[in-house]
Amino acid sequence: MRIEEVELRLVRLPYRSPFKTSFAEEVEKHAVIVTIRSEGVEGYGEGVMDPFPHYREECIPGAMHLLRGAFAPELMSREVQHPSEVTARWVEWRGNPMAKSALELAVWDCYARQQGVPLRTLLGGVRTEIPVGASLGMNPIDTTVENVTRHVEQGYQRVKLKIEPGWDIDMLAAVRAVHPDIELTVDANSAYTLEMMSLLRQIDEFGLHYIEQPLHWDDMVDHAYLATQLKTELCLDETLTSPARVKAALDLKACTVVNVKVGRVGGLQAVREIHDMCVARNVPMWCGGMLETGIGRAHNIHLATMPGFVLPGDTASASRTYARDITEQQLEATNGIMPVPEGPGIGVTLDAAFLHSVTESVEVIRR
Ligand SMILES: [Mg+2]
Repeated sequence: MRIEEVELRLVRLPYRSPFKTSFAEEVEKHAVIVTIRSEGVEGYGEGVMDPFPHYREECIPGAMHLLRGAFAPELMSREVQHPSEVTARWVEWRGNPMAKSALELAVWDCYARQQGVPLRTLLGGVRTEIPVGASLGMNPIDTTVENVTRHVEQGYQRVKLKIEPGWDIDMLAAVRAVHPDIELTVDANSAYTLEMMSLLRQIDEFGLHYIEQPLHWDDMVDHAYLATQLKTELCLDETLTSPARVKAALDLKACTVVNVKVGRVGGLQAVREIHDMCVARNVPMWCGGMLETGIGRAHNIHLATMPGFVLPGDTASASRTYARDITEQQLEATNGIMPVPEGPGIGVTLDAAFLHSVTESVEVIRR
C-alpha cells in the first residue's frame, strides 16, 4: 500500500464523571486520532498518551513532534507491503511506543479495509465477541459498593478496583462483605513500595485474582521479590513496554498475569509477539484500556479476539465513560460480553459532525 496522507487530530472528549486513580483525577479525555489515507481508503488509529506523563513517560506534545517529524514522513516515503513491518522501520527512533502505535494502528485498519476483512481476521482472532470486565475509579466506600453491585448486575465478568495506601483495606472489606465470591482484582498504579509489606499482606487476604502493578511503574526486580511473599498473583501493566520487557518480566517471575495495552507495548505487531510468547508459556493475558474513544476501543476489541486473551479485559461499554463517543457505532457490552464490530477493518466509522465539535486541532501531512 502507498500512503498519501497522515492526519493528526487532537480531540478533547468529556468523561461522564471524573476518573480518579492513585496518580491523577481526570475530567476529559485528550486523544490523538490518526487517520491515514491510501488509494481512496482511510484507516484510523488512536494515541493514548496524556497531555503530561502521568502514566508512562510519553506525552501528547512529544508524540505529535515524533509523528509529524519522523514516523509519518518515513511511513509515506516508501510502500508498505504489510502492516506487520511498519514499526520495525522506526527502530532508529528509540522508545515512544504510544506514538508509534497510534500510527501503526491506522495502517492495520486501512490495510484490513483494503483487503475487505475485519481486523481480527488479520490478527488470527478466534472470537466474534469478547468477555469484558469493568475498571472502577476511586469513590467513597458506599458509592464503590453500589458501583460494584451495579456492574455485577450488568453481567461484567470481573470488577477491578483502583487502590492506594489508605484506600484499600476498608474499601475491599466493604466490597467483599457484600460480594464474597465475585471475580475481583485491584490496580495500584504503582502506589506501594516494599516498605509497605504489612499492608500488601493484608490486601493478599481478600481472595483477589491478581494485584496489578503494586510497585514502581518501571520495576521488575521488586515485583519479582513481592511475588515470592504473596499468594495472590501479580499482574504487570506500566512496566511492560515491549515484547522484550514482557520476556524479561516473565523470566524474572515478576508477574504471572500480563495486561496488554497496544499503545504501551508499541503497536499490534508487538502485541502479536507478546501474545505468542504468553501462549507458549501458558501465561494468561487480558486487554487493558486507557479510556479510549471508539477508535482505540474498537482496536482493543479486535486484538482481544486472539486466543491467548483468556481473561476478561477492560474494554467495557463506551457509555460508561462517555455520554457521546466520536464513532457512529456505539460499542456496548451486554451481560459482560462485547460484540466485535462487524465490517472491514476495525468496523467503526467516525461521526464527522460530533468529531468536529470536540476537535482542538487538525494537521495533515502529505507525501
Ligand atoms: Mg493498570
